[in-house]
Amino acid sequence: MDFAFVSGNPALDLAGTVGSRGDAPVDALNGPADLERWVAACDGLPDRVTADPALFASALALREAVYRLALDRVRGRPFDPGSLETVNGAAAEPVPAVRLGDAGVRVSGDLAAALSQIARSAIAVLADPHAQLKECGRTGCTRIYLDRSRGARRTWCGMAECGNRVKAAAYRARRRAGGPR
Ligand SMILES: [Zn+2]
Repeated sequence: MDFAFVSGNPALDLAGTVGSRGDAPVDALNGPADLERWVAACDGLPDRVTADPALFASALALREAVYRLALDRVRGRPFDPGSLETVNGAAAEPVPAVRLGDAGVRVSGDLAAALSQIARSAIAVLADPHAQLKECGRTGCTRIYLDRSRGARRTWCGMAECGNRVKAAAYRARRRAGGPR
């Protein structure tokens, strides 16, 4: 399964590895190897980390805490204290090392460092009063994303993921109804 990085923030992208949370959740991280692939695919994180079962469990706990806090933020309610503790605890760990070279930035560190980086990304976006956090407008998607568009008029987590599907469904509905295209 390919991972989607459409949320505008790595922590929200991690939370988005569970899709359709409402009725039929689909989890893209089914074991430590999936997590290793996700970290390698995510910009700004080390290319190669090793995940054991304990760290994998920590990553999933962090993911669910990030999702809960983002949802709290979207719904305009106080943050869940247990989720705050999880995110703050992960963020207290050392972060990956970065080195600039002609080929760009090289990020290195272990999985705990990667999780710390993710937790700090979550804190940065959740603490920003101007950050426009939204839940995807496609029924059932449940992905939370950061809307950076001008005027914050984005409706879907991603065009490829949801926008085109909604538009195609609307087009088919209009065709069936015999209405204008
Ligand atoms: Zn979506």
